[in-house]
Amino acid sequence: MSDAERTFVMVKPDGVQRGLIGEIISRFEERGLKLVGAKFTQISEELAHEHYGEHEGKPFFDGLVEFITAGPVMAMVWEGQDATRQVRTMMGATDPAESAPGTIRGDFGLDLGRNVIHGSDHADEGANVREIDLFFDEDELQDYERIDETWLYE
Ligand code: GDP
Ligand code: MG
Repeated sequence: MSDAERTFVMVKPDGVQRGLIGEIISRFEERGLKLVGAKFTQISEELAHEHYGEHEGKPFFDGLVEFITAGPVMAMVWEGQDATRQVRTMMGATDPAESAPGTIRGDFGLDLGRNVIHGSDHADEGANVREIDLFFDEDELQDYERIDETWLYE
């Protein structure tokens, strides 16, 4: 495998409430990505501000914090070749209205403020590592091999 990396993914409160956790996990599992961490948790106001710090001051920020803290989220770490970019591609565009059918946001969302899933931005260098650190301790991440790995990678 070249470019093996880990990325942070989260089913947002709307995705949890709409019963999409299993569907979303299935997509990543079937693609061949490996689940190395998972936490069903409630985001505090403080964590929301840290996680979305880059958006502080923008008109949608207060609504975003209110939304992301409104109910439990499914926080996960997925590992694989080029994982950060591949997850973003599978998620679709930030605005579900602009997301292609077949992507998670394109299949399950309609509104920018309720876009079902978060994934680390591959265009933001190191965002995956920072976000994993924010949500997980090192001993909460598992090192193991999936039995199909020798058939997933050349
Ligand atoms: P992402 O990396 O694709 O999630 O997009 P961004 O980092 O640009 O924005 C973070 C999150 O803020 C998005 O996923 C949306 O939930 C929310 N968001 C971004 N822009 C807007 C906006 O213009 N209006 C609203 N209501 N929410 C927004
Ligand atoms: Mg982002």
